[in-house]
Amino acid sequence: TLDQHWEMHVSPAARGQRIVQLVDRTGNYAAERMRVDFVANASHELRTPLASILGYIETLGDDKAGEDAQVRGRFLKIMFDEARRMQRLVEDLISLSRIEAEKYRLPDRAVDVGALIGEVRSELLDAQDKRSSDIVADIDLSVPAVAGDRAQLSQVLHNLIGNAMKYGRAGTPVTVKLWRDPAGMVRISVTDEGEGIAPEHLPRLTERFYRVDPGRSRAAGGTGLGLAIVKHIIERHRGRFDVASVVGTGTTVTILLPAHGQTGTVIKR
Ligand code: ADP
Repeated sequence: TLDQHWEMHVSPAARGQRIVQLVDRTGNYAAERMRVDFVANASHELRTPLASILGYIETLGDDKAGEDAQVRGRFLKIMFDEARRMQRLVEDLISLSRIEAEKYRLPDRAVDVGALIGEVRSELLDAQDKRSSDIVADIDLSVPAVAGDRAQLSQVLHNLIGNAMKYGRAGTPVTVKLWRDPAGMVRISVTDEGEGIAPEHLPRLTERFYRVDPGRSRAAGGTGLGLAIVKHIIERHRGRFDVASVVGTGTTVTILLPAHGQTGTVIKR
């Protein structure tokens, strides 16, 4: 018996015999299923804040709420936050589709990752409001440039350091390390002292919209797409990505990237 994932092709052969081919379509069905789920999830994620914004607009227009300056201010703040959430989601969706469209073009610019870490560190510290996580950068200055796409590698660092700040314990530092391993690969690790991730969640973290704690992710402004974006960018760079975590202690995400050129381009400082 054939289940829905198998296709049978029958073609005539010599002496009245038939050639029967069984083709396994499991991969196609899985890809199609993922695409359908993705569109459904993305629409749902957009619908929720949109419904909330429309509800507040209606209330402001309908009753006396709109005349009370304090209430109006509060509603506007909520509407602004919901619109920002939609904007972040749309930006992440655009990033994902761009990265996918470029997936077969190997990025080849020499990128100074040490300098990039410094830049992203300042941007994230400046954007931080009341929470006071410091970002400690431990950079080996002799690390060669990597072959990459600067904007995409900046996005990787933003997402990983941003997660470490979001899910780290308030007041504890985030540590970013850059070094070259004995095999000549460039390694970057981001470590936080947060609550960690239970082992059963680790294999699913890079799935689109997969969240360990959806309430916490949303409250922190997460889209659920950050690590999916990281995975795609690292794959495009022919690199590797690994998450190690201990519940109650913290998480370390490590990425490995090939150095630029065979021997590595030395960065002039
Ligand atoms: P989000 O926008 O929800 O942060 P991500 O794709 O960046 O989405 O991460 C997926 C999920 O992985 C998060 O919702 C969170 O549950 C978990 N996660 C990611 N980074 C960390 C971390 N440093 N510590 C604990 N949990 C994390």
